Amino acid sequence: MKIITSVSELIAFRNQQDSTVSVGLVPTMGALHSGHLSLIQKAKQQNDFVICSVFVNPTQFGNSEDLEKYPRNLGQDAHLLEQNGTDLLFAPTPQDVYPHTTFLNFSFGHLEQVMEGKFRAGHFNGVAAVVSKLFHYCSPSRAYFGQKDLQQVAVIQDLVEALSFNLTVVRCPIIRSAEGLALSSRNERLSLEEKQHALTLSQTIFKVRDALKGGKRASESIELGVLHYQSGLGVPPEYLELVYADSLLPYQDESTVLDLAVCIAGKVGPVRLIDNVVFQLN
Ligand code: AMP
Repeated sequence: MKIITSVSELIAFRNQQDSTVSVGLVPTMGALHSGHLSLIQKAKQQNDFVICSVFVNPTQFGNSEDLEKYPRNLGQDAHLLEQNGTDLLFAPTPQDVYPHTTFLNFSFGHLEQVMEGKFRAGHFNGVAAVVSKLFHYCSPSRAYFGQKDLQQVAVIQDLVEALSFNLTVVRCPIIRSAEGLALSSRNERLSLEEKQHALTLSQTIFKVRDALKGGKRASESIELGVLHYQSGLGVPPEYLELVYADSLLPYQDESTVLDLAVCIAGKVGPVRLIDNVVFQLN
């Protein structure tokens, strides 16, 4: 596996690569787990060459403590990526990606005004800035993102269309522990007991989905979910929403064949977690 840590070296490398080689890009912030590796595997199936970026992007963190405490383990990440057949690991420094303070300003309308956008001001602006840069450096044919960050996929899909990036966004399913906890690098900061408590998030979204599929109204299904969450964690979730999976517009008991999603966020111990489930009514 090739390792590149400089932006100019990556651009030079891509320029000398044959343009018929299809490239799959998997952007990550490292501390890799099986969720990330499922994206690598998908990229390998669909492309000639797989690039994984490991970069803890400072511009998408509102909270400097969260940024500082974000788990980092590049040595182990490189090992896992190599074992899983990644062709190139790109691990730049923040100074190289952001040589001066960025004033880039993206706007995604409704997509950034709900859920994560409401609770993490500026987050999607930072995501869009770094992902645009990665797309320019790597010129991928396809870019792989996890449904774990459903709102992020919607924002990036919009970014690709708005700026005419010549690539396909591939949304990959959520990988969970046997008990149902969505894998996340942030889970590393949970104690064993907190990991047990964190199961409340997935239990809640599955409960809401099942209530809705069982014929309950949207508002009643959400209420059941909030009650379940509160009885597990003692506080209400930051949000628990029922939306259309692509537009993120609220679902209000219409008859539909479109994908719906139940999305949740909440704090367990010191860590803020998110999860979602995508499903159809019939
Ligand atoms: P992160 O390193 O958390 O920024 O994640 C990098 C990519 O991996 C994003 O596209 C995430 O949505 C995806 N990802 C994170 N956790 C999971 C998971 N449990 N299952 C599938 N994809 C995931």
